[in-house]
Amino acid sequence: MKTRVGILAIGDELLNGAVINSNAASIGNELLDLGIVPMESVMIPDTQETIVAHVQRMAPTLDFLMISGGLGPTADDLTVASVACAVGSEVVFDEATADELRQRWASHFHADLPRNNLKQAEKIVISAWIPNPNGTAKGQHLHYAGCTIFLLPGPPRELFPMLHNDVIPYLRHAVENPMYAHRMVVYTVPESKVELRTYSALESLDHHNDLHLAWCAQTSTVRIFVSGDNEALVNAAVPLLKAEFGACAFDDVLPVELTRLLRSRKIKMSVAESCTGGFIGKEMTDLAGASDVFWGGVMVYDNEAKMRLLEVPASILETDGAVSERCCEAMCVGLRALSKADCGIAVTGIAGPGGGTDDKPVGTVFIGTYCGADVTVRRYAFYGNRERVRYATVVNALFQLYTMVRAH
Ligand code: ATP
Ligand code: MG
Repeated sequence: MKTRVGILAIGDELLNGAVINSNAASIGNELLDLGIVPMESVMIPDTQETIVAHVQRMAPTLDFLMISGGLGPTADDLTVASVACAVGSEVVFDEATADELRQRWASHFHADLPRNNLKQAEKIVISAWIPNPNGTAKGQHLHYAGCTIFLLPGPPRELFPMLHNDVIPYLRHAVENPMYAHRMVVYTVPESKVELRTYSALESLDHHNDLHLAWCAQTSTVRIFVSGDNEALVNAAVPLLKAEFGACAFDDVLPVELTRLLRSRKIKMSVAESCTGGFIGKEMTDLAGASDVFWGGVMVYDNEAKMRLLEVPASILETDGAVSERCCEAMCVGLRALSKADCGIAVTGIAGPGGGTDDKPVGTVFIGTYCGADVTVRRYAFYGNRERVRYATVVNALFQLYTMVRAH
């Protein structure tokens, strides 16, 4: 039987839109590695009756229930008391945890533990602690109505490591009929084509109908999920898909893959961004250790900036305009001279909503990449609103540079 998992995210802030329920996304994403898709994911306010009612309704139908939020020290943090009530247990004060909290507070803040923080030493009698290396709210897990319930803190930087290091490994052991899953990312191939090509790539595989396939499309990006209870079958599907999508298939997202490639070549990249306004730089520098591979760059929005920082000739701007192949090429050449980085990206385009013409409608973008002495400029016609055009530019620019560097 399939493993039944549910998610219960607690917090008024999730319902009034102040905070996006990213914990549910993280949990769903981590579960996918075990081939599990949650049966339901619910958001509820910080109200005792609501928490009790949901735990009592959901737990008997599930093998695992993940609860996030409300483990803090304040009066609105009701999860522990409410879950204790729901499962017919009680809360006990754990002196050893109280000591840990006092010590943690003394070493981090050089102060006495505030009285209300002692609440975080309260444990449900029938539960066991889950350590929280990044905060004072420890997690707990317990068994109730045939279900294992996990209580996890709300702050993602606390929840995620506990999920990854404790909860998922626990599930991996506990699950009786494990599923095996693999994911991959395909760039620059439209979703419908990805689907058809996935089927045809797997056709020759015996028992391919036993595989579960899913696709998730975002701008210029399609994620493929392959899962099944036969590990050998899942493993056999992966090389077939890689062969089908060739240079467009990746294990990880592009910034991660490009960073890996540049690091393996011991080279650095630079950027000259117009319509993306620094977005490419952000994507690359979101990753820790980016300075190994990312030199930096310039944001050249106005023509004057293109001329002064990258020495784009005024004549090109006058004759061809800022959104043109020649301007993009000059930006690449100027960037290489300025940065002396081994490779780089220059982008210039019309993100809209205004500024389009018949010749160059909104979504016209030139992406230039250089690697050593080589410079390539390509014209793209993206569709969609400003946000989508800008994001498509980022993805395609990273893809273009990746492809160029790999071929070098
Ligand atoms: P704390 O000790 O910080 O009070 P807690 O376990 O009580 O932790 P909450 O009070 O529910 O957690 O939430 C703390 C913060 O964690 C929220 O302000 C919010 O920013 C974040 N958070 C809570 N739930 C979620 C969620 N489901 N997804 C993303 N972030 C969340
Ligand atoms: Mg709280």
